[in-house]
Amino acid sequence: MTRDERYMKEAIKQAKKAYALGEVPIGCVIVYQDKIIGRGYNRRNTDKNTLAHAEITAINKASRVMKDWRLEECTLYVTLEPCQMCAGAIVQARVTETVIGAMNPKAGCGGSILNILEMPEFNHQVIVRRGILEEECQSVLKKFFRELRVRNRMEKQQRREKQDAEAVLQIKIDDEGENQRGENL
Ligand SMILES: [Zn+2]
Repeated sequence: MTRDERYMKEAIKQAKKAYALGEVPIGCVIVYQDKIIGRGYNRRNTDKNTLAHAEITAINKASRVMKDWRLEECTLYVTLEPCQMCAGAIVQARVTETVIGAMNPKAGCGGSILNILEMPEFNHQVIVRRGILEEECQSVLKKFFRELRVRNRMEKQQRREKQDAEAVLQIKIDDEGENQRGENL
């Protein structure tokens, strides 16, 4: 296993923590001098916080360890291509390298929609490697979304059944009301 794969495995472990919470499974670790100094996983729904992305949490922790907002000579491993906010934070933190598992064509800003990480116009460019343990990173996400679809379908069906049951009850109440009025006459 290469060094990149070894640390991506650690990021996948973080993604599985998000999965266990019912969150979109995305995980991140930050490595400095061959040691993990920050870990994070998506907790957006749990924390009800837009900022609770895996990368932001990992950057916060790594900055505390480094006692510096600059994460120079650090490598950030993330299971899914960063969004615009996280890619921006990675550049702002001067992270030297970013290793991406799966790409995210619908929202990614590490080369899919934008490439914030490598824009020559900014004062800092990140060295990026993509597609590390891509299938493994993707399979965690695919499993999550497959199960979410099943859950949504079941909830929809339950809602429909409840509405049907309520409609039947309403008809019964209406009928009984009619009958009682009939008796009173
Ligand atoms: Zn993000």
